[in-house]
Amino acid sequence: MQIAVVGGGVCGLTCAIALMKAGADVQVYEAANKFGEIGAGIGIGPNASRLLRKLGLMDDILARGDKTHSEWFQWRSGLGGHEVLTEMSLRPGEEPFMVHRAAFLDALVKHVDHSRVHFRKRCTKVVESPTSRKITIHFADGSTALADVVLGADGIKSAVRGAVTGLDPVESITYSGTSCYRGLVPIERVKAAGIKTDFITRPICFVGPRQHLIIFGVNAGKLVNVVAFGRNPNALPDEWERGAPANPAVVTVTKEVPLREFAAWGPDVVKLLGCIDEWSQWKINVVSPPLPTWVKGRVALVGDAAHGMLPHLGAGAGQGLEDAYLLARLLTHPQTCLANIENVLRVYDEVRKPRVQRVWDDTYKMGNVVDGLGPSGLTPEGLTKDMGNPWLYVWGRGVDDDVLHAQFRLRDSGEYVSASL
Ligand SMILES: Cc1cc2nc3c(=O)[nH]c(=O)nc-3n(C[C@H](O)[C@H](O)[C@H](O)COP(=O)(O)OP(=O)(O)OC[C@H]3O[C@@H](n4cnc5c(N)ncnc54)[C@H](O)[C@@H]3O)c2cc1C
Repeated sequence: MQIAVVGGGVCGLTCAIALMKAGADVQVYEAANKFGEIGAGIGIGPNASRLLRKLGLMDDILARGDKTHSEWFQWRSGLGGHEVLTEMSLRPGEEPFMVHRAAFLDALVKHVDHSRVHFRKRCTKVVESPTSRKITIHFADGSTALADVVLGADGIKSAVRGAVTGLDPVESITYSGTSCYRGLVPIERVKAAGIKTDFITRPICFVGPRQHLIIFGVNAGKLVNVVAFGRNPNALPDEWERGAPANPAVVTVTKEVPLREFAAWGPDVVKLLGCIDEWSQWKINVVSPPLPTWVKGRVALVGDAAHGMLPHLGAGAGQGLEDAYLLARLLTHPQTCLANIENVLRVYDEVRKPRVQRVWDDTYKMGNVVDGLGPSGLTPEGLTKDMGNPWLYVWGRGVDDDVLHAQFRLRDSGEYVSASL
């Protein structure tokens, strides 16, 4: 079975690595001329770190000295004296970590067989032939490639998604009404600015009315990752449900822009924003409304292409990695073959969609709570009550739970003769 992965971001590469390690015939088609990530940090939850460990990737991912956290977030007031409003501890076995995105991607790239990677291949459409059973992938340079199975891991503006939904890619995404400023700053500069809050021991969230900041250390605490969120002041909390995608989604701005928006915030926030000269401003688009299915025939969607979500639980990539892991396990299962592949992909869709949708919904709730739009307000009690612990669900899933679940379904429907890992 020839498998094509379209898109070499974190989800596409993890999927390709899992497939390659299991001996599958896989080719990767990436639009850019090399693998690359933006200059920012990313948080990876224990659900994803467990599967990365299973794939033998964790040592390389943490090679720059990043460590798994032993304490989870502290939520502080963004205004006034930054008093602690609430905090969360980790339970034994939970090991989230924060890492520079480039370090994460570089570690994955090390495990890819480069002879199977094709750069400058921007997919424009995917067409399933009714006669030959092969799928044709069309690229912007006029070339094509054939495969038996196509996995669309080409991000939120996915071109492959058109083959599943029948819609133009932008018709499946909408602007959330939330924007953010993203930047990285050396820890020395943070210290020199006289900032008192410790961003390295544990991640920090400064909360306030309609705005919040997420801050954590990467590169073994040498760099501080800052994301400052704000929502369109005129938008209702659910305004984005009716929106259209923001285009362009990313622009570069100078520090005066975030400083103006957070001018009334407390001293550590204002000093921190002043430490970074150039910021990237992101208008956050999401896949909304949810796709009725991520699969059509032998084409399946993975990661943001299927379910681009708000970043408020740091869970989007983790969910995509779970998709990638399950797909790789099912596609390389000894009882999967061309005759049953469509049903196997349908089961992937049935198993993954409800879980991802719950996480997607929880990211929306969390965004409202930290922006002061939760029912109980931004008091210590209100924040603790409204937030609950959404990570119990996000992180609680065992890496092979979905695999077993899918295999039992395939056995019960007669596609597999037995369900075994
Ligand atoms: C501000 C912010 C903070 C976030 N923080 C976190 C976090 O802490 N933790 C977390 O888990 N998630 C986080 N996320 C979400 C996370 O970044 C995404 O879920 C994740 O990057 C999606 O990975 P992907 O591989 O699906 O897509 P992408 O990373 O977008 O990769 C898509 C790849 O496909 C390529 N491509 C695009 N179009 C084509 C095409 N037509 N043909 C071929 N190739 C193509 C691209 O060049 C790219 O390499 C955050 C998101 C935002 C906006």
